[in-house]
Amino acid sequence: MADVPAECNIKVLCRFRPLNQSEIVRGDQFIPKFQGDDTVVVGGRSYSFDRVFPTNTTQEQVYNTCAKQIVKDVLFGYNGTIFAYGQTSSGKTHTMEVSYFEIYMDKIRDLLDVTKTNLSVHEDKNRVPYVKGCTERFVSSPDEVMDVIDEGKANRHVAVTNMNEHSSRSHSIFLINIKQEHVETEQKLCGKLYLVDLAGSEKVSKTGAAGAVLDEAKNINKSLSALGNVISALAEGTKTHVPYRDSKMTRILQDSLGGNCRTTMFICCSPSSYNDAETKSTLMFGQRAK
Ligand code: ADP
Ligand code: MG
Repeated sequence: MADVPAECNIKVLCRFRPLNQSEIVRGDQFIPKFQGDDTVVVGGRSYSFDRVFPTNTTQEQVYNTCAKQIVKDVLFGYNGTIFAYGQTSSGKTHTMEVSYFEIYMDKIRDLLDVTKTNLSVHEDKNRVPYVKGCTERFVSSPDEVMDVIDEGKANRHVAVTNMNEHSSRSHSIFLINIKQEHVETEQKLCGKLYLVDLAGSEKVSKTGAAGAVLDEAKNINKSLSALGNVISALAEGTKTHVPYRDSKMTRILQDSLGGNCRTTMFICCSPSSYNDAETKSTLMFGQRAK
């Protein structure tokens, strides 16, 4: 196995989508100003990341600059997690390309078996957390991975009436487990990669929510801030307490966020003046992880 890095390797990347048709029609301003390849200025304040992708960046460029390396490392036995964070419609799903289980209202639902609607988190004998009873599929080619993804997507459609609305209020987590065995030496190599398409980070006040929707929003805020706390504790590199146990998501991801891991956070933003406040708070969330 390759050398274990001394400390957790967290990269924070920021991506702005282009203005969409309705924003253009409404006459919204294009607010970000890109400086170099790692800084964006919004509202007179500059925000730096490991990399900033302006609106004209292609999917291939995004993949080549970051995801490719993580995928390679996972094949060499590291664990990794790729997150997409941002308000609804900022380009999270677009950036991940995949959308299996999901966490909705702190309940874990198996997207490869719709009868499993409330799975629990257990720990194995090495104290590594896992989702008990979650469906696992054996795949041996990228095409087979895509088939599984399609199946999960179809189940997501079946389970909910309003796909877009629902997906913005749940975290979707795709786990790729890679186990290799060397034919001659029989040496085993395991790596896993989590792809986490987070729930929309927008503040609830904008939609004037009440009742169940408000509970949902509180739940999302709680789990996103638990994630922010874990990432910033890891980014600080202090050996003190990392609050993994504060949410189901951080518990599940625990062994793919600390120590032997590769973590990349995509901070996804709208360029529109209409979303000014959300974009600033999204950028601030990303800065905390630096
Ligand atoms: P989210 O998952 O954050 O709610 P989506 O990924 O669904 O947002 O993106 C919202 C819409 O914007 C989609 O129609 C998507 O195709 C489009 N979009 C997002 N990012 C980009 C981009 N970088 N370039 C072009 N279109 C994009
Ligand atoms: Mg989405």
